[in-house]
Amino acid sequence: SFKKSLGQNFLIDQNILHKIVNAAGLDKTKGALEIGPGIGALTQHLAAAAGAVTAIEIDNRLIPILGDILAGEEHVKVVHGDVLKLDLKKLFKEQFPDVTGISVVANLPYYVTTPILMKLLEERLPLENIVVMIQKEVAERMAAKPGGKEYGSLSVAVQYYCEPSLVCIVPHTVFIPQPNVDSAVIKLAVREKPPVDVEDEAHFFRIVQASFAQRRKTLANNLTAFVGKERREEMTQLLISCDIDPVRRGETLSLDEFARISRAFLAAGWRG
Ligand code: SAM
Repeated sequence: SFKKSLGQNFLIDQNILHKIVNAAGLDKTKGALEIGPGIGALTQHLAAAAGAVTAIEIDNRLIPILGDILAGEEHVKVVHGDVLKLDLKKLFKEQFPDVTGISVVANLPYYVTTPILMKLLEERLPLENIVVMIQKEVAERMAAKPGGKEYGSLSVAVQYYCEPSLVCIVPHTVFIPQPNVDSAVIKLAVREKPPVDVEDEAHFFRIVQASFAQRRKTLANNLTAFVGKERREEMTQLLISCDIDPVRRGETLSLDEFARISRAFLAAGWRG
């Protein structure tokens, strides 16, 4: 039986499985980390493509099944645990001692997509890319450009660490059981360094959060909450001096513009 609470929707379409593995650009010198192998459909494809595979599965009922399906695959390890609680840096050192690159490849449990991806990115694991099946709407938000309604703090966070590209849209008929939402495969090519000049990452992300706090408000209105009412006028002038119109909405700002605001606010001593 399937555990809905664990986001268990298993892939049954070989074509989609091929597409996912191909997008990761694996070969026998590379390592692959799979999150949530389920009953091993994707894991088998990864085993054929990569030199070392580690799959982390939370559901103890699936561990013996995975053991059977992957029997004899010496380069594949199954780890029983919650990916959100594991020390991934340590796991990488143990599981991928001599690979030329590591990818995360997974059909993610949708209820924890964002926490899982943010953990992978914020811990700055030595990843080349992340190829994941996620909810279509979330994939669109991750890849969104400034100006559209999908663009928000998730877009900025993902694009700060990665270059996203949509691999394909996936109909819900390729899963058992079928989920209620459409899905997409997204590839996140992990950047060697951020695309913008940020002095203090935590501050940069606080500015981003504050700018999107109330989507119908102007940037100046949203940032007033960040600096305090008494500094509103001074802050508005500072935005103008950064070449950013204070009446714009947060959803029109590029990463570079958020970085400019963050640097200017830090220089003014406004830490939020
Ligand atoms: N990879 C399989 C496939 O494509 O058919 C299964 C994908 S299914 C969408 C998600 C899997 O993630 C399930 O097997 C579920 O038990 C597992 N899972 C859910 N939460 C997890 C967590 N926190 N850590 C590790 N695995 C998790």
